[in-house]
Amino acid sequence: MSQNYQTMWKNLGLDLNAHDMLLEVLGKGYTDIYLSQSNRPTGMGYFDFVMSEVHGLRIKELLDEKAAGRKIVGSYCVFVPEEIILAANATLVGLCSGAEFATEAVEKLLPRNTCALIKSSFGFKLGKVCPYLECADMIIGENTCDGKKKSYEILNDLVARLYVMDLPQMKSPGGKAILKSEYYRLKDEMEKLTGVVIEKDRLKQSIDIVNAKRKAIHRLSILRKANPVPISGLDALLANQVFFYDNPARFTQSVNALCDELENRVKDKTGVFPESTPRILISGCPMAVPNWKLPWVIENSGGVIVGEESCVGERGTRNLTDTSGNTVDELMEAIVNRYFDIDCAVFTPNPGRLQHIMEMKEAYNADGVIHYGLQFCQPYSIESGRVEKALQAENVPVLCVETDYSQTDIAQLETRVQAFIEMLK
Ligand code: SF4
Ligand code: SF4
Repeated sequence: MSQNYQTMWKNLGLDLNAHDMLLEVLGKGYTDIYLSQSNRPTGMGYFDFVMSEVHGLRIKELLDEKAAGRKIVGSYCVFVPEEIILAANATLVGLCSGAEFATEAVEKLLPRNTCALIKSSFGFKLGKVCPYLECADMIIGENTCDGKKKSYEILNDLVARLYVMDLPQMKSPGGKAILKSEYYRLKDEMEKLTGVVIEKDRLKQSIDIVNAKRKAIHRLSILRKANPVPISGLDALLANQVFFYDNPARFTQSVNALCDELENRVKDKTGVFPESTPRILISGCPMAVPNWKLPWVIENSGGVIVGEESCVGERGTRNLTDTSGNTVDELMEAIVNRYFDIDCAVFTPNPGRLQHIMEMKEAYNADGVIHYGLQFCQPYSIESGRVEKALQAENVPVLCVETDYSQTDIAQLETRVQAFIEMLK
């Protein structure tokens, strides 16, 4: 990445040495995992470029937006409605992190047995290595799992402006009412932050922008149903990860261009792996950049990933927001309805997620499901038992794995995944 950005990073308060270390690890991981794949669609060149400029050009764009008076908002969860953020003339960026950093410092603030995702987010802050975090004018946290809920009390002391949403835990009328009142509270907060009143046309336009992103991802997902699969699971995951921080219009255009190419591949029966390759559905915790360990293991063990039942995947993107409303209240209602359908494991009970896994298994013609749980993530770890039982009852092969962001268990993961894929063959 260009040395021209050194001043920008310094001005953001990053620790330049630590940041160099992070970029080196990220760059090496990307080269080893992504650039070593064969037969990639040329449309992935855009995503390679995005990754090479993830702390460069994109940050410069965000800083240019700030200089022009636009606010940047960071978030850690797909329950934060991008439609409302955009309608207030702000930009939303995902802050979830997928790599270990400054673990020693993190464990002075958080218990060691906290999930890797939360620890990583803290590590990026304490290590002063995340330009997205540092350029955000406001960070939105949310009461989903206990780990996040309590850690925000500590994060509050580390960042300038943290806003926490109170999210429901049950899919009941009362739960929906909580979500609705929280989305109105967020709307007010965004209007205060930006000075922009969220009126009907702005909201409608923002819904269209976010729906277009999701529709492009839906197109990509549908193409993955083909056999042979025209794109690797690793590449499709990357597109789903970039969804969270790229410019929305450019992202939509780039995914659609990729899909044009994939449509031709499907017509020509050009795949990234042979037709006989076992097809795997991944289900579970979200995978943030650069958490590519398990997908890499799967696709280097003779399988191909055809879908992700995950917040960085179909759980996060599957539903569109209805645009037929003619008032702010009607559009807000549509947003609430759309987000209330997200089947996060923090809900109790959560039968919708089991049903969605079954639907995805059928739709993507998956031969087996690998449930991915982050160590110390209680909601998904506990729910994995129900997922396993439900799949076994339908004679669907399932493997439950629990891991973290370290590389120490790769050999063990390979052994388990290879045995599972052999069994599918
Ligand atoms: S898994 Fe739950 S808490 Fe995590 S991003 Fe998804 S909805 Fe939010
Ligand atoms: S992975 Fe699990 S424990 Fe970690 S933040 Fe998400 S829901 Fe919470």
